[in-house]
Amino acid sequence: MARYVGSICRYCRRESMKLFLKGTRCLTDKCAFERRNYIPGQHGQKKTRRRVSEYSRQLREKQKLKRIYGLLERQFVFTFGKAERLKGMTGDNLVSLLERRLDNVTYRLGLATSRKAGRQLVNHGHIMVNGKKVDIPSFFVQKDDVIEVRPRSRENVAIKASVETVESRGIPSWLEWDHTHLKGEVRGLPTKEDAAIPVDEQLVVVLYSR
Ligand code: SF4
Repeated sequence: MARYVGSICRYCRRESMKLFLKGTRCLTDKCAFERRNYIPGQHGQKKTRRRVSEYSRQLREKQKLKRIYGLLERQFVFTFGKAERLKGMTGDNLVSLLERRLDNVTYRLGLATSRKAGRQLVNHGHIMVNGKKVDIPSFFVQKDDVIEVRPRSRENVAIKASVETVESRGIPSWLEWDHTHLKGEVRGLPTKEDAAIPVDEQLVVVLYSR
């Protein structure tokens, strides 16, 4: 499957905001957005103001959401379709589904410093759900699911370092976490407010409704 292999800092520069895609590096002065706060490319530094069309605003919101959760277009469209089929507002369902992805949950629990690192932990089989190894980053957790680090991975250096560095970020209220036993539980399904992401998901819904 095609995957972007260039600098992901370009995403932040393109969206003109920090998307925090690189973990602890994003909080240092090495952040590319802090140093080059303009759109990448030949015309990025031009001062001329272009009129922003409605379509462009919708597209940017979609790209932002997709990039924050590290999805490719196909995976994103699949998730959107699933959100449409659920009861309730499609935008809220979409954000809730993205939050429920196992790679995101791993990041939210503080086991990884970014969603990308969370995806790697899941891919490498370090995470168990309800006592069984799950190595699918797009796995959607359910209410009352028990998430834990596999016993043989508890001494993993990356996990230990991450738990220490992200303690200040806090665990969202829809998740419960026991730092000592590296074990947690899904208390309820996340809402748009729980996700707290700088995206207007309604614009994404309008874009896909065209
Ligand atoms: Fe974005 Fe982080 Fe790169 Fe800064 S360091 S540009 S916040 S991904």
